[in-house]
Amino acid sequence: MRDYITVQTSFAFPLSSVKPLDGLQSYRAYCISSTRTMLREPLSRQECPACRSKLKPLGEVGDLGYVRCPSCASCFLHQITVSTQWARLLAEVSRFRRSPEAFHHGITQSRIENVYGPKLEWIQSTLRLQGVSQARLMEVVTPPSDFTALLEASGSFVNVLPVDEMELVMGVPLGSSQAKRLTPSKLDSDNPVHAAVLLESLDRVPDPAVLLGAIARYLTDGGLLFVTAAVCSGFDMAVLGLRNLYIYPPDRTNCFSLRGLELLLTNAGFRLLEVSTPGVLDVEIVLAHLQQDPLLPLSVFEKQLLAADGETREAFQTFLQQNRMSSFARIVAIKHS
Ligand SMILES: [Zn+2]
Repeated sequence: MRDYITVQTSFAFPLSSVKPLDGLQSYRAYCISSTRTMLREPLSRQECPACRSKLKPLGEVGDLGYVRCPSCASCFLHQITVSTQWARLLAEVSRFRRSPEAFHHGITQSRIENVYGPKLEWIQSTLRLQGVSQARLMEVVTPPSDFTALLEASGSFVNVLPVDEMELVMGVPLGSSQAKRLTPSKLDSDNPVHAAVLLESLDRVPDPAVLLGAIARYLTDGGLLFVTAAVCSGFDMAVLGLRNLYIYPPDRTNCFSLRGLELLLTNAGFRLLEVSTPGVLDVEIVLAHLQQDPLLPLSVFEKQLLAADGETREAFQTFLQQNRMSSFARIVAIKHS
């Protein structure tokens, strides 16, 4: 029997307000091209980071191979590169994401309201329920992050400490690789944090298990981990497979199944408190792909669903949330004391 809770949301917003499929193309092409350039001396991944099963070929995105775990069904970019180069790659695409050429630029305010606002509320209400006040919070990111200012302005935390996810993976002193040093002096294992937030961080680092191990060292016993991820067990991912234009490296270097994500966290010494998929866009994402490519191979049932009225599609999306079958996952886990 599961001993975690599952939460649904009725807060809905259109795809165009957070990650429009049309607008995605130039950012996606930049990401794939930058990854290809960085893979001059590639390292092939053989084992699933979640369950250690031997990975099997799945297909290609651009001309970059993806592999699948036959056991937990998670998907991974097959080839990565040494962490110092990966850190450079993540910094490079993060810079592009913030440039006027990327789709994020024109919808910053709408992303704050629809993407970051609900996440802040989620963190605040969970900390309240767990009886944690005056929390020190570590934000695990490739800096800079649009979320930092919102976390700080909320007044809910004693400290908000952005930490470079690749520095954690590499085990180098925190802040050492940043041109503008972050706040490493406030963060060491003698002065642990009460919570860590990872928005899709496990999706893009080359070694997510190492990242979790490093975070655990800075978390107090009983400290909370807030994780969001795109999961391949969700509806649009399962229907579209690698045709899903939201799957590309380095942002989706790892696309765990929900089961894979649970295994990754529990194997890293965390207990699950909440496992939810409060996604609102699965059906709309498949519809957007069909509008872009009318020859998209879909089953009769899938076509029927997409042709149904708005009420039916909404009811199906609610079903996906209730049964943890949406592709947007959020998890709260607690470090074992
Ligand atoms: Zn696996």
